[in-house]
Amino acid sequence: MPDTPGGTSAAAPFERLCLIGLGLIGSSLARIARHNGLAQTIVASDADADVRRRVAELGLADKVVETSELAVREADLVILCVPVGAIGDVARAIAPHLRAGAIVSDVGSVKSAVLADVAPCLPPSVHFIPAHPVAGTEQSGPDAGFATLFRNRWCILTPPPDADQEAVARLAAFWTAAGANVEIMTAAHHDLVLAITSHVPHLIAYNIVGTAADLEEVTQSEVIKFSAGGFRDFTRIAASDPTMWRDVFLNNKDAVLEMLGRFNEDLTALQRMIRRGDGEGLFELFTHTRAIRRGIIEQGQETDAPDFGRRKDDPAGGDKT
Ligand code: NAP
Repeated sequence: MPDTPGGTSAAAPFERLCLIGLGLIGSSLARIARHNGLAQTIVASDADADVRRRVAELGLADKVVETSELAVREADLVILCVPVGAIGDVARAIAPHLRAGAIVSDVGSVKSAVLADVAPCLPPSVHFIPAHPVAGTEQSGPDAGFATLFRNRWCILTPPPDADQEAVARLAAFWTAAGANVEIMTAAHHDLVLAITSHVPHLIAYNIVGTAADLEEVTQSEVIKFSAGGFRDFTRIAASDPTMWRDVFLNNKDAVLEMLGRFNEDLTALQRMIRRGDGEGLFELFTHTRAIRRGIIEQGQETDAPDFGRRKDDPAGGDKT
């Protein structure tokens, strides 16, 4: 587990934080909330009995309850950490049990669909402020979480236009205290940006690993044997949770298809350069893309250590975010 968690406990703690879904993201939030004193009491619930048992064993929450309806009672901050396709159903189930004035949020990787699904079913007495921490790994479940997951990562809030500004500020302070940098934008803009920075890259990884596995002359064992090349990094991304990513593509259809269209045009241009032996064009593009990576490193979003900082003595180690 990584070292000291980021963030501070400067934000006024919530009385009762309720986390629904204690997988990678929910359990990381429970850990940092406890460590940094972001809530007086943490209540957790998950649809999976094994997850609930594990959360209790790990001591991640003060209370672990069976249903989300029970979990949200008296909570002043409720964060839905379930797959995007399940967020609407959970919101409908908890709606009658929410405390007036509570802030309800989520961590879903898609925002417009969540906003459209959730906002109409919540009572007007609560504040719904969708959020997306742009932080994660390819792993799932309560054991995969860690308190430093959000440190120096972005958390994007997508409040609806009529959102209560005090509630937005309180949620922003919560994420800042969890170690994240907060940015506010519209849900539609979020979905477009994340389509190209996260969703399409995952689709490419799923596709390239699937194609390689399908090729007759490249057997599964050779795929594994020679995976020290760039392919290995694709396999890591393509190991990401199938439920989560199915839901992302089903719920961010328009933006993903728009970005895929552009990607295909650029791929066709690359194909042409290769066919025509246009070395200058290839070199120019690769120089430009190298500069983009340098920019990401300079902004602290990636390590400049060779091989993504994987330690020589630990082939599976390194920064997996
Ligand atoms: P995860 O590790 O699979 O955890 C999700 C948990 O929610 C599982 O324990 C799941 O139980 C439970 N769950 C599913 N439906 C539920 C329901 N109706 N009621 C209560 N619990 C339910 O997933 P995760 O990676 O933490 O992702 C959670 C959310 O964070 C997703 O919306 C995802 O888009 C977003 N997100 C993920 C990442 C990432 O890199 N992983 C990054 C940023 C945001 P079962 O196992 O029984 O289904």
